[in-house]
Amino acid sequence: MTLDELTHIDATKVFVNGAWIVPAGGQTLPVENPSTGEIIGQIGRGTSTEVDAAVAAAGAAMEGDWGRMTATERGRILMKMSALTLARAEDLAMIETLDVGKPLDQSRRDSVALARYLEFYGGGADKLMGTTIPYQDGFTAYTLREPHGVCGVIIPWNYPMQILGRGVGAALAAGNAVVLKPAEDASLSSLVFAAIAAEAGLPAGALNVVTGLGTDVGATLSGHAGIHHLSFTGSVGTGMRIQEAAARNVVPVTLELGGKSPHIVFDDADLDKAMPVLVGACMQNAGQTCSAASRVLVQRGVYDEVRRRMIGIYEGLVVGPAIGSHDLGPLVSRKQQQIVQSFIDRGKQELTLAAEGQMHPDAAPDGHFVLPTLFSEVAPDHALAQQEIFGPVQVLIPFDDEAEALRIANGTEYGLVAGLWTRDGARQLRMARKLHSGQVFINNYGAGGGIELPFGGIGKSGHGREKGFEALYGFTRVKTVTVHHG
Ligand code: ADP
Repeated sequence: MTLDELTHIDATKVFVNGAWIVPAGGQTLPVENPSTGEIIGQIGRGTSTEVDAAVAAAGAAMEGDWGRMTATERGRILMKMSALTLARAEDLAMIETLDVGKPLDQSRRDSVALARYLEFYGGGADKLMGTTIPYQDGFTAYTLREPHGVCGVIIPWNYPMQILGRGVGAALAAGNAVVLKPAEDASLSSLVFAAIAAEAGLPAGALNVVTGLGTDVGATLSGHAGIHHLSFTGSVGTGMRIQEAAARNVVPVTLELGGKSPHIVFDDADLDKAMPVLVGACMQNAGQTCSAASRVLVQRGVYDEVRRRMIGIYEGLVVGPAIGSHDLGPLVSRKQQQIVQSFIDRGKQELTLAAEGQMHPDAAPDGHFVLPTLFSEVAPDHALAQQEIFGPVQVLIPFDDEAEALRIANGTEYGLVAGLWTRDGARQLRMARKLHSGQVFINNYGAGGGIELPFGGIGKSGHGREKGFEALYGFTRVKTVTVHHG
């Protein structure tokens, strides 16, 4: 099947005010298949002209049919978008696999997750309420939860469908209009999503999708005076630039940035349950996950056993073309492959290499593959234990006791997710309180998952919360009303 047959759209156009338009100048950007390095299509290279038009259309939608719709009607449209997404889940999965190199079974999970986000937020639309406030005698005081207005949503390439689901789904459910800017390496599923929204009856202008370069379309959008809220998922450096741009317009911004998440194993852990999770929590999506558990902290009593068993799992991991649903696919681009490989090369010079996975014979030489790599006995302050690698690389760090585990776990500039394996209930509760992180998983680990679970970071992992019902609060602002009736 060709890409056009899968998408049913002309991806060189952008979606503005309910219509597909050719970007000014008619330029395009190539779509590369990361498994082969082949150019398989083109997307439109949007310009400030389309960003201006999209922001204006979103503003008009807020004043028009979309802004007047009841919460129940909005919820029903999201439910319909969910059903249409599920009906096309297989095509969407294939599109994502070709576009970003995600193994097909993982892409399938993403398209189903997109449908589930739309269902969750569709169901939440008419359950978002204000409060009444006990106040002075003779007054009634209450709050209204209002949409911000026009929301800019800028998403990365690692989980395009999940991240657009949690951002756009929540923003629309709360009554906002959206201008979505997908990553240049991963725009196809966002464009198909626009077609699904139109088919579901979403009014023109409520969702606009402008593809193009981050430094161009993304920068214009984040600095646009017509935007009322920005939400961004991506790298720390770009997040800082977006927050600076938002500050110039005094616009609120939600940032979900990187992580160096710790996965902590105590001597009393159920290792049979923990072992596959310890590895999977980083290897999924070839380590290209903000919440990847890239640091494995192990208490000395079980350190040798955990190390031995992790080596066994690593040696069985297979990297191959995404279409084959191997354990790992390629990384998204040549650039990412080079960045990750240089971390691995440095680790091989400075650290103890414990294990590597295997390259499948079908892995094309021009695909962006790297081998999963495990380093052991790593000092907590080494660069590979401090910096986000965004690839299939884990470091094993031994520790003696709970206090040391906490010190190491909290000893990076990030704080997105932490995982903990112990049967000691009191320790579970203590650690959950003391870990510097937006989520704590105890005897499980949910990298990237958990539609219902509020998610976000502290420190350089960002601020604001996405996912769960919490995201609906983030996409609204509170107005307080007092009535003096005597
Ligand atoms: P990466 O470096 O891995 O591509 P980024 O954080 O730069 O990750 O990209 C995430 C998203 O941010 C993408 O949609 C990208 O186009 C966009 N982006 C990149 N640079 C900017 C910028 N200066 N302003 C706004 N958005 C940007």
